[in-house]
Amino acid sequence: QRRIIPRDEHDISRQDFSRAALHVLYGLKDAGFEAYLVGGCLRDILTGIKPKDFDVVTNAHPEEIERVFRGARIIGRRFRLVHVRFKGEVIEVATFRAVTGQEEDEDDRHSRRSAGGQILRDNVYGTIEEDALRRDFTCNALYYDIRDFSLHDFADSLRDIEHRTLRLIGDPEQRYREDPVRMIRAVRFAAKLDFSIDPATEEPLARLAPLLQQVPSARLFEEVLKLFLSGQGQRTFALLQKHHLFDALFPATAEALDDDDGASDLKLIHAAMRNTDRRLAQEKPVTPAFLFAVLLWPALRRRVSFYLGHGMPPLQAMNKAAGQVIADQVGIVAIPRRYSAVVREIWDLQSRLPRRAGNRAAALMEHPRFRAAYDFLLLREEAGEIKPGLGEWWTRFQEAGDEARDDMLAGLG
Ligand code: ATP
Ligand code: MG
Repeated sequence: QRRIIPRDEHDISRQDFSRAALHVLYGLKDAGFEAYLVGGCLRDILTGIKPKDFDVVTNAHPEEIERVFRGARIIGRRFRLVHVRFKGEVIEVATFRAVTGQEEDEDDRHSRRSAGGQILRDNVYGTIEEDALRRDFTCNALYYDIRDFSLHDFADSLRDIEHRTLRLIGDPEQRYREDPVRMIRAVRFAAKLDFSIDPATEEPLARLAPLLQQVPSARLFEEVLKLFLSGQGQRTFALLQKHHLFDALFPATAEALDDDDGASDLKLIHAAMRNTDRRLAQEKPVTPAFLFAVLLWPALRRRVSFYLGHGMPPLQAMNKAAGQVIADQVGIVAIPRRYSAVVREIWDLQSRLPRRAGNRAAALMEHPRFRAAYDFLLLREEAGEIKPGLGEWWTRFQEAGDEARDDMLAGLG
């Protein structure tokens, strides 16, 4: 059921592709192989988004691909891909692949064993049809043929892209069961592309959300990062909540948001998402630690107040709660220690920022996480969790000269 759309009947031109992508396509073609651009880059071009990378598929095997290009390197142990470097850009080249059963990422960074240590499945090379049908969404399964610049459509991909519809290929429930990460990907693409999710693809989400708990936590970490760093964090968060996926990913936070005093927590997350989206739009860096500090703060507050209620001193309550909240979360989403350590620093600083007397303020500003902690404080004030004032004091203190600072410190009384 392949439909071929000739060059004069579609809007994708070679000018939409990077130099490196063209280099790889022509290199393979001239060596006698088939070569196609596939997936995300075509979808993005057709929806008016600048592609962030270009993926190529071919009938050449990894060793053959390697022989065609000087800048080629085989990566991955079980499913092998080739990275071709050209003028500072890397193009990922994969051999047509037929896969049935449990699916996972394109790359090989993630664990390939189930909890019991059993290898989940083998990869096999296949035909272009098989390669298309093993992909997740119709919008991700379009191919551009470098031989005659035609598009090859195996799943009504073009129609769905034109109608801005996100649709799983095949039976939705079965595809989610094969790989529950597809549920998160559904939300990510719907938010990023501003597509609506087709009813049959949408219906199983809330019902199957608990399956996410079976996904290896390292893989969930990668996917969760992509969710919130897509530039559409606000929309993404709303969709995750709507489909109960947020509950599965951040259960302690979801529970805290349902509490009577969860309103400011929800505002905090919304404000943080808005900020993050704005920063990304300006191409400013966003640190994952800050995001996790925000996403787990409601759970932390809830647990701290539990310990306080049992008479534990504040700093001890804070420490104990922070350790537990992170330990619980890491069981689901494997936040690497280099980030979780920063999360704790941002949290710790929240109780130190009010204590400014003497030379404490100047010392705090030297703390490597001061800036993140200060931003976090502003968000808490914006969300109405604490009354405003302290954030503004710190804003002025940072801008002030030595004399004005002395005055501000004297004014603390
Ligand atoms: P992005 O621009 O966000 O990277 P992408 O479409 O390139 O979007 P990737 O995660 O890089 O997304 O995956 C590349 C392609 O591999 C997808 O377009 C899709 O065809 C296929 N793919 C990735 N993950 C899965 C999965 N879990 N199940 C099926 N196919 C997948
Ligand atoms: Mg990609």
